Parts: sequence; structure tokens; C-alpha cells
Amino acid sequence: MQTVAAAVARAREVFGSGTTRPLAWRLEQLGSLRRMLVQRRREFAEALASDLGKHETEAQLTEIGFVTAEAAHLEKHLEAWLRPRPASVPLAVQPAKAWTELTPLGVVLVIGPWNYPLQLLLAPLAGALAAGNTVVLKPSEHAPATSAALARWVPEYLQGAAEVVEGGIPETTELLSIRFDHIFFTGGEVAAKVVLRAAAEHLTPVTLELGGKSPAYVDASTDLAKAAKRLAWGRFMNAGQTCVAPDYILATEDVLVPLERELVKAIGALFGPDSARSACYGRIVNDRHFDRLAALADSSTVVHGGERDADSLHFAPTLLRPAPGDAVMGEEIFGPLLPLVPVSGRDEAIRMINAGAKPLALYVFSNDADTRRAFAEQTSSGALCFDVPAVHLMVPGLPFGGVGRSGMGAYHGEHSLRTFSHERSTLAKPLWPETLALIYPPYTKTKHRIISTLVAPAGKAPAPGPDRS
Ligand code: NAD
Repeated sequence: MQTVAAAVARAREVFGSGTTRPLAWRLEQLGSLRRMLVQRRREFAEALASDLGKHETEAQLTEIGFVTAEAAHLEKHLEAWLRPRPASVPLAVQPAKAWTELTPLGVVLVIGPWNYPLQLLLAPLAGALAAGNTVVLKPSEHAPATSAALARWVPEYLQGAAEVVEGGIPETTELLSIRFDHIFFTGGEVAAKVVLRAAAEHLTPVTLELGGKSPAYVDASTDLAKAAKRLAWGRFMNAGQTCVAPDYILATEDVLVPLERELVKAIGALFGPDSARSACYGRIVNDRHFDRLAALADSSTVVHGGERDADSLHFAPTLLRPAPGDAVMGEEIFGPLLPLVPVSGRDEAIRMINAGAKPLALYVFSNDADTRRAFAEQTSSGALCFDVPAVHLMVPGLPFGGVGRSGMGAYHGEHSLRTFSHERSTLAKPLWPETLALIYPPYTKTKHRIISTLVAPAGKAPAPGPDRS
């Protein structure tokens, strides 16, 4: 087994050789990544089932197929996106040509979480390879089967382009002591701070994909049965262990009562009368998270579900009616608990949302144009979706990322290419004619006049506005 330092050194050597820059290399890597996902689909699906009880179809939708589609999208558009973009040249600098080019950063470190252990490691990988970098992948130790599958197959299909370093905090700490050209981290706040501090030592740029509480607001103008089905799907997919899952629902009491009934029906329709017997329903990742979720449920009021089994790590889809101050409203739930929280109306909902950290996603179920506009104009979140949770991830043209405490930076599609590239400004100015002579010292009255009118005009002072005293 190679050491952490050797893996990084190999990635640096390959990048340094220059082979990663041509379009052909990048397309070849994206093709190999897709080939791996198609040819090893079974092995990856089995690993995801072992780690999280993921159904094969869900694994295909949210992990294996998701990355395949992302790689194909990058392959399709890469050549066009890499074309230099001209910039207009002001008169003072003419004659000259100016343009920008996307250039690779170097060696990228991708650190992944356990909840979508394949997607959240390989989707950034696709972007980093498209940008012409080499990559060191650090899968989560809490999804050991997926980590092992990645360590087995990635080096075979992406030899030289990507290295896999398995392990937990000690291995990550060692990785973070080494200088990278970019660090892409998906996970929680505590580890994010460790990553950011370590990156500061090397002044390495960082993308942080974090979590938090993503609210959903529902009003009476929407179809509650359809809204409930979508909310239940978004919340209970992967047994609630989804960063963009609706974390809690805000609605007026007259909406919450029928919505609760519809949610119960929706849960039954998705997972049958007993989710423990449903092959479509996932499992909690480990004992620690199971105990954390049990404590959250036990310290609140369960109105539906709550059944669980520590041996099989099954935790039923659970609806809560929390009291103010319940622990479940104080932290990201990241499990199959859905609190239903009464508010007096949309203004109170907006106040509550704005009182907390900026969410990764905000979901509004309403047919009322004013209400939609109010949420759009008066809140901030990584993403805002009307009438559906989570599927914004599947639109490659939308940047995926948080804001404030839910993260910094974004990726997917062209946004990935830009995240993992440096947009280099390039300027070419012929030595003849020597127009710069006009701005060289020694300065004269004529040069002053030219500079003041053409090169750096003084302009007119803005008129004082009504509030400028
Ligand atoms: P985590 O922060 O515990 O772990 C993420 C990675 O960091 C793992 O690879 C782990 O080995 C490493 N790590 C953990 N502690 C470390 C430390 N002290 N020093 C160095 N490395 C360390 O996160 P998790 O529990 O795997 O994932 C859950 C969190 O991730 C949730 O908050 C969730 O919302 C968030 N998340 C965000 C997204 C997104 O795309 N925005 C997606 C999935 C999960």
C-alpha cells in the first residue's frame, strides 16, 4: 500500500508532466470514468447497499447514473467551454488583443462524506479532470464498502489521473498537511473548519459543500397531497441522510393538520405499511447516528412513525410536532425525522428562516405569486425551489452549492469546470506602433490632457443624492 505522501507525489508528477492539459486527455479520462461506472455498476451498487441499504434503483438515480450523466455532459460541452473568451480592449490600450483561457489548477484534493459516498466524490472528480487537473480522492471511512470499491477500481480506470487515499481523520490530517492547488470538501461544519484552517497554511483555495437545515414552506394554495408526496420523497430518500432534504416544514396550523394526514399516506405509498420490510427504504449509516436520531426523536413529540431497530439500523419515517426549543430544531437532522412547525403565515416563516443560518436549499410550495416573490426577495439560500425538493441537483446548468454557513463555491456542469480552473487573463500588444509613449514620463501638459481625456478621464462628479448630506 502506498503512503499518503507517495499518492500525492504521483499525482503531482503526472500533472507536472503536462499530459493532462490537452483536450484529448481530459475527454479520455471522462470516458474512462463513465466506462468504470457502467462496467462496475454492480460492484458499486452492492457497496452502496452494504453501506447504506440503498436500493439499486436509488443508487443508479442518485449516485452511479448521476455521475455518468455529469461526465457525459462535461464531455459533450467541454471543447466549447474551453474556447478562449475575447475581452474588449479600451482605446487607451489599443492596438492589442485580450482574452481569457481556462487553465488547470494542478493537483486537487477531494474529500467526501458518507451519505452519497460515490456521487459526492466522483462528481467533483469529473469536473476536476475536465479542467485538466490530477486528483487525490479521500472517501469517507463511514462508508467502508464504497471506499474500498473506489480504491479498487479508480486506479484501474483512471491510472495516473486520480489517486485514492482511504482512511479517516489521521489520513485526512496528513493529506491536509501537504500543499494542494485546490481542496474540494463536502461534509459538516466541524471538519470544514479543520480543512479551512489547514488550507490557510498553504493559501490553498477551497470549495466547501456543507449542510444545515433546509426549510420547506407550504401554504393552502398548493395541492397538499402532491406536495406531501414530493416532500416525503425528498425527506425520506436515503433514510433522510441527504444534505438537501427538507429538514422541517413551516405552515399555518390549518395547513399542517391536513398536510400531516397526506404525509402519512405518502409515506405508506412510498415504503408500504412497514418500512422495515421495504427494500426501497435505506438504513442509518452507523450506531452513532442511529443513537443521535433516537435521542432527537425521544426529546420531541412523535406523531407518526418512530419505530426503530438498533440491530438492523432501521429507523422508520417519522413525523414530529416539536415544542419550541426541542433539540431537533437546533441542529441539522440528517435522518428520517420531519418536524412540522406551525407559523402564523409567510412573514413569520421568512423571519424564522432569516433568523437561522442561510440554508443550502429552500423549498416553497405555493401557487401564490406574491408568496413566491416574497421568499425570492426576502431570503438567502444556496438554492430556491418551487414545488419540489432536491431535484435542482439534476439540472447541470444550475450551480450547486451553499451560501454563508451552508458552503462556499459551487459545481456541476460548466460551474465545475470553472471551479477547478483558473481563468487566466491574457493580453498581447504589438511593440509597434508604440502607443504607450503617450503615457510614459516625462509628463508634459499635452500628455496630461491626453491622459485626462482619453486614458483616465476625470469624469463629472456625481450630483449629491437626497440622502448625501
Ligand atoms: P464529516 O464532516 O464528518 O466528514 C466529511 C469528510 O471529512 C470525511 O471524509 C471525513 O473523513 C473527513 N473528516 C471528518 N472529520 C475530520 C477532521 N477532524 N479532520 C480531517 N478530516 C475530517 O461529514 P459527514 O458526516 O461525512 O457528512 C455529513 C455532513 O455533510 C452533513 O452536514 C451534510 O449536510 C453535509 N453534506 C453536504 C453536502 C453538499 O453537497 N452540500 C452533501 C452531503 C453531505
